[in-house]
Amino acid sequence: MPHTVAKHTVMDLDNWAYPRRPVVPVHESVHERFSVEIFRGCTRGCRFCQAGMITRPVRERSITTIGEMVEQGVAASGFGEVGLLSLSSADHSEINEIAKGLADRYEGANLGLSLPSTRVDAFNVTLANELARGGRRSGLTFAPEGGTERMRKVINKMVTEDDLIRTVTTAYASGWRQVKLYFMCGLPTETDEDVAAIADLAKKVIKAGREASGRRDIRCTVSIGGFVPKPHTPFQWAGQAPHETVDARLRSLGRALRADPGYGRAVGYRYHDGRPSIIEGLLSRGDRRVAQVIKAAWADGARFDGWSEHFSFGRWERCAEEALAGEPVDLDWYTTREREYDEVLPWDHLDAGLDRDWLWQDWQDACDASGALEVEDCRWTPCYDCGVCPAMGTEIQTGPTGATLLPLPTVPARAGS
Ligand code: SF4
Repeated sequence: MPHTVAKHTVMDLDNWAYPRRPVVPVHESVHERFSVEIFRGCTRGCRFCQAGMITRPVRERSITTIGEMVEQGVAASGFGEVGLLSLSSADHSEINEIAKGLADRYEGANLGLSLPSTRVDAFNVTLANELARGGRRSGLTFAPEGGTERMRKVINKMVTEDDLIRTVTTAYASGWRQVKLYFMCGLPTETDEDVAAIADLAKKVIKAGREASGRRDIRCTVSIGGFVPKPHTPFQWAGQAPHETVDARLRSLGRALRADPGYGRAVGYRYHDGRPSIIEGLLSRGDRRVAQVIKAAWADGARFDGWSEHFSFGRWERCAEEALAGEPVDLDWYTTREREYDEVLPWDHLDAGLDRDWLWQDWQDACDASGALEVEDCRWTPCYDCGVCPAMGTEIQTGPTGATLLPLPTVPARAGS
């Protein structure tokens, strides 16, 4: 066996035999749509994001292939919605042309278009309007992840408060009534104030929405969960925040959001408490010894633990204690402990192409006492040597190609639409 196993990277997505005739369930499913992956990889450099780190570099699927895939997939499946998926879909270099081309082609055909959550700094109203042309104007979802600019710099989510307010103002002024904001709690270097600031941010968003639209029925939902450090990211060395800390911050955020009667109804609050995140953290960064914990929890009746009504933290704590009794480690050792540079990590034999020293430096830059240092996106700025391209023999592949999605013929309206 080789010492390390390297990932394989598909470079030409147009040639990859993506399922174009999907299996269609006979009953309604959660994601009731035909999905097209429009590009792979993301080099925005969010330090918590495993998907962004391990799927580098960015490789775009061409606009013409996307058009063909939608045509074939919709014809074969009959779905009434197409999801344009990727890690950050609004970043496709031809996303406006893709959305407009599809909206033109399926005008009146009762076909909805959707994007997963959009980056605050990549949102534009033209794109949003094209997506809404198919019929539904769904809510908009943005993920600032951190409540203060300091926090967002630590995680390298380079979004200012002004960016966010400007973006939501445009959205509310263009007819959207509902914006959902995603955050994480328990991030490295986080303080109580960083989480409390989310309440102020939500109120500013609602205020901006009311001013821009001249209406009172504006809503902003804050959705927040506990941060779980992931392998192959700069935060793989981080100590996870104890669940008591996360829960205390979430409770106080809930109180702050509800405290002001002027915003009470306009603000929604969804949160996942800190204890499931600790078990996710155990599974995320566990080594082979954790297999015994999982087996013990299963034998003890653990099923569907992602559903809060089935999740028992006590069971996992007990099973971890029993299964790890003969080992010099425990639940805290796997989760809340910060790792040193020279510790051998359980996933060091898996090679995603990322240079370990670059990851470590990025971790140090995140926690810099004088303020976190940010990393730009190498799609638009010079390479900063994360290691992937030379190690894997790959390269960034982005357009624009200048091609058009049309001339596919315009699709006739469906009966009843
Ligand atoms: S090696 Fe350079 S160009 Fe390639 S993904 Fe890393 S930073 Fe970007």
